[in-house]
Amino acid sequence: MKKIYLVLKSLFLIDIAKGLYLTFLRMFSPSVTINYPYEKGKISPRFRGEHALRRYPNGEERCIACKLCEAICPALAITIDAEEREDGSRRTTKYDIDMTKCIYCGLCQEACPVDAIVQGPNYEFATETHEELIYNKQKLLDNGERWEDALHKNINSDIEYR
Ligand code: SF4
Ligand code: SF4
Repeated sequence: MKKIYLVLKSLFLIDIAKGLYLTFLRMFSPSVTINYPYEKGKISPRFRGEHALRRYPNGEERCIACKLCEAICPALAITIDAEEREDGSRRTTKYDIDMTKCIYCGLCQEACPVDAIVQGPNYEFATETHEELIYNKQKLLDNGERWEDALHKNINSDIEYR
């Protein structure tokens, strides 16, 4: 009996008809896909994307060269050199991140006492060469300036959980 059922099912293409019926029904449901890159999905304020170094509103670098981020980075992706300025403050002279080593764990951001190094909302930074993904201090500061509004908003929205 089962054999006859299977033969009839194949003969009348029942499975294909069921699939087409399902497709027909989906035509009237709201679309769950987006037309990337023209449309972009919503991302969490905690999204861990491209890194940035932030400044204070007066333009001063936030980073105090404590090297906590370098010490905690499990991928050894961060390299920092620092020196004391004439005013006695410590500042970095070199801040590099090898983005091809980075595993986007967010520990550098967690460790930073002054919210200087952060991971922003940008995920569109693919490159064609390895060299382009070795970020230096200037590149990270530029990212900070570019994304400051979004970074500030994201940090504030998460502040009660920190
Ligand atoms: S996100 Fe993680 S792996 Fe990447 S630089 Fe920060 S601490 Fe290192
Ligand atoms: S980015 Fe933050 S944790 Fe890293 S050296 Fe600067 S102040 Fe310290």
